[in-house]
Amino acid sequence: MRIAVIGGSTAGLASALRLRQSGHEVSVFERRSGTSTGGFGLLLTPSARQGMRRIGVNLDSLGYPVEQSDIRDEDGRSILSQGLHDTVGIERAKLQDALLGALEPGILQLGKSFLGFESDPQGGARAAIFSDGTRVEADLFIGADGVRSNVRSSWTPGPALRQVQSMELVGMYRGDAIPEILNGRFLKFCRTEDGISIGLVPTSTECVTWYIQCDPRRWPICLSPQEEKRAWLQEEVQRWPDPVAEIILGSDLNRTHLWRTTDRDLPINFHRSNVLLVGDAAHPLLTFTSQGTGSAIEDALAIGDLLDHHVSRTPEPEQLDGILCEFSRHRIPILRARLQMGRRMQSQFLNPTRRTQQIVPICS
Ligand SMILES: Cc1cc2nc3c(=O)[nH]c(=O)nc-3n(C[C@H](O)[C@H](O)[C@H](O)COP(=O)(O)OP(=O)(O)OC[C@H]3O[C@@H](n4cnc5c(N)ncnc54)[C@H](O)[C@@H]3O)c2cc1C
Repeated sequence: MRIAVIGGSTAGLASALRLRQSGHEVSVFERRSGTSTGGFGLLLTPSARQGMRRIGVNLDSLGYPVEQSDIRDEDGRSILSQGLHDTVGIERAKLQDALLGALEPGILQLGKSFLGFESDPQGGARAAIFSDGTRVEADLFIGADGVRSNVRSSWTPGPALRQVQSMELVGMYRGDAIPEILNGRFLKFCRTEDGISIGLVPTSTECVTWYIQCDPRRWPICLSPQEEKRAWLQEEVQRWPDPVAEIILGSDLNRTHLWRTTDRDLPINFHRSNVLLVGDAAHPLLTFTSQGTGSAIEDALAIGDLLDHHVSRTPEPEQLDGILCEFSRHRIPILRARLQMGRRMQSQFLNPTRRTQQIVPICS
């Protein structure tokens, strides 16, 4: 099949790799003009790592094994400690480079910002139109253009995207060596009743991605300009157990990012006619479960496997519709469980009680 993928980040590149394995003719169209993607770091779950292996991307030398998750209180006392299996911390840029490195040259086209589709008489999409005038015809279009997807809003809008109450301020520490306590360990400190917690994710022996999860009704400072936020951080981190101050003050505080997380109910289907949404475009997940990247990789495998089972040559529109319906039937129960878990964790975070039970912030 001729498949055009819109968006060249995790979901788009993983889809392209999986679909190329089955011999489809794939092109990826990415809005950015350069390959550098930015971002900080993330935890990759076992299913995400297995998925990466299946599409030929080996992260063994790029990720940092994280074997333990420790949640502690504001005095550093353990609340919940749990062993983690086959989980790594990884810089987002390294993950993107690994995906890109596995893709044949020429498949990714940069500087292509998707504008909309040209329809065919049967109501399907005939061609995708980009802002530089490029027009691309394909049998199947895959929208992998992230949370604020243009493909979704222009073709299959579904439930509205909502801004959620919790926010995350994210940054990155680079030093000669990470503090010993973070060797192989993800650490999270919670001041549950104050609506704030701090997570430290080691992504190498020299690097840690940190995040401050906060309720902006109680911490409006997180919405302030960079300079004021920096002054606040310099004072605030002193109140937290080691190694919070060392990590956050050892970071470039001019390079932090305020993540305004979003939520969206799941639609009935992730497609309309021959346009399928994958990754964050299809199902933004709350950050509480660390599942955005893993779910994007699973989507890529799922669509590749379904097409392998059903397609020997370019399918008729009804047959393709049936295959894409099956994609949603297969994916929705899994994603619904993650969405519900994220909402539960968010609700606990925003409305804490003395009996709030902490949950390991990684959903399988
Ligand atoms: C800049 C950035 C930094 C991030 N950093 C982190 C992080 O540090 N930790 C973490 O856990 N998660 C991070 N994420 C989120 C994480 O990448 C996703 O949740 C997850 O990987 C799912 O990926 P995705 O490919 O579905 O969406 P995304 O990663 O959001 O990728 C969407 C891609 O589509 C492209 N795009 C958007 N609109 C158009 C258009 N109109 N035409 C063509 N292309 C378009 C974007 O440029 C982007 O490359 C980041 C996302 C972005 C965009």
